[in-house]
Amino acid sequence: MFEISPIPAFKDNYIWLLVRERSALVVDPGDAAPVVDRLESLGLDLAAILVTHHHADHQGGVGELVRRYRADVYAPAAESITGTTCPLHGGETLTLLGESLDVLAVPGHTRGHLAYRCANALFCGDTLFGAGCGRLFEGTPAQMAASLARIAALPDDTLIHCAHEYTEINLRFASTVEPDNPDIRQRIARVRALRADGRPSVPSTLAEEKATNPFLRCAQPVVRAALAGRLAVDAGNVEVFAALREWRNGF
Ligand SMILES: [Zn+2]
Repeated sequence: MFEISPIPAFKDNYIWLLVRERSALVVDPGDAAPVVDRLESLGLDLAAILVTHHHADHQGGVGELVRRYRADVYAPAAESITGTTCPLHGGETLTLLGESLDVLAVPGHTRGHLAYRCANALFCGDTLFGAGCGRLFEGTPAQMAASLARIAALPDDTLIHCAHEYTEINLRFASTVEPDNPDIRQRIARVRALRADGRPSVPSTLAEEKATNPFLRCAQPVVRAALAGRLAVDAGNVEVFAALREWRNGF
C-alpha cells in the first residue's frame, strides 16, 4: 500500500504524493518547487508522474521534475501534456512501484480527462470535488454526468482525492440546493473545523459525497424540486445535471 499525502500548491491546489519505501509517485504536479521540497525533505526518489488533464495548474511542474528525476509521465493521450512517456486512454491497468493502478476515462471537465485508482484511493483531478464537480470546459453535460456515474459506481469506501480545496464554497451551494439535508449541515461543521485548523477537507469518502454532493444526487426528488422553474417536468438526469451545473456557475 502507498502512504498518501497532499502537497499544497498555488492558492488551493493539492498535488498528491504516493510513497512506497523510498520511492514516490505524484499526481498533477502543477508546480515543481513544493514537490522537490517534499521529496528532498523525505529523502525520496520520484519514479513516475500521473497527470489527469492538461490544465497548467496540473502539469506546469512536469518539465522540471522530469529534468531532475527522469520520471515516467503517464497522461491522457488525447491531450497535450509536456513530456508524456506513457499515453493513456482509460481502461488500462498500470503496475507502479509494485502496486496496481486502474485508469478511468472521465471526460467532461476536459476532453481526455483521466482518473487513477489504486485500491480504495481515487485520484480524480477536476472531475469530482468535495461536495461539487469540475466546470465543463470541453465536454458535454452528458459526458460529465456519465463520468460522475462511473465514479459513483465505485465502492462507497473509495477515498476521493481531488485536486482542489473547494469544499467549503461547494457546501454553501449544496445547502442552497438542499437546505434541510442534515448530512450537508454536519459536513459543513466538520469541514469548517478542519479548515480553521489549517487541515485539508479531503479526501472524503464516496459515501459522504453521495449523501452531500448535489452533482451525485440528480435523481433525488428534493434536488429536482430545487430546480423547479429551470427544468421541464419530464427532464432526465442529464438535464438535471446540466441545470445544476448552470446554477452553480452563476452562484
Ligand atoms: Zn482543470
